[in-house]
Amino acid sequence: MARVINSDCVMCGTCRDNCPVGAISEGADKFEINPNECIDCGVCESVCPTGAISENN
Ligand code: SF4
Repeated sequence: MARVINSDCVMCGTCRDNCPVGAISEGADKFEINPNECIDCGVCESVCPTGAISENN
């Protein structure tokens, strides 16, 4: 399962800059994780300053 970004995202870009597979891109009002590219490593969740990223379960 891929991780997901919720509305707490402040679009700082830290997750995108740290994703090892380039699965994160800027969306309209928050960043988005491409579920087909995400390997569920958890790096983005650990670096997000607002805790906006979690496991999709
Ligand atoms: Fe990228 Fe890992 Fe976050 Fe998936 S869990 S979006 S691979 S940093």
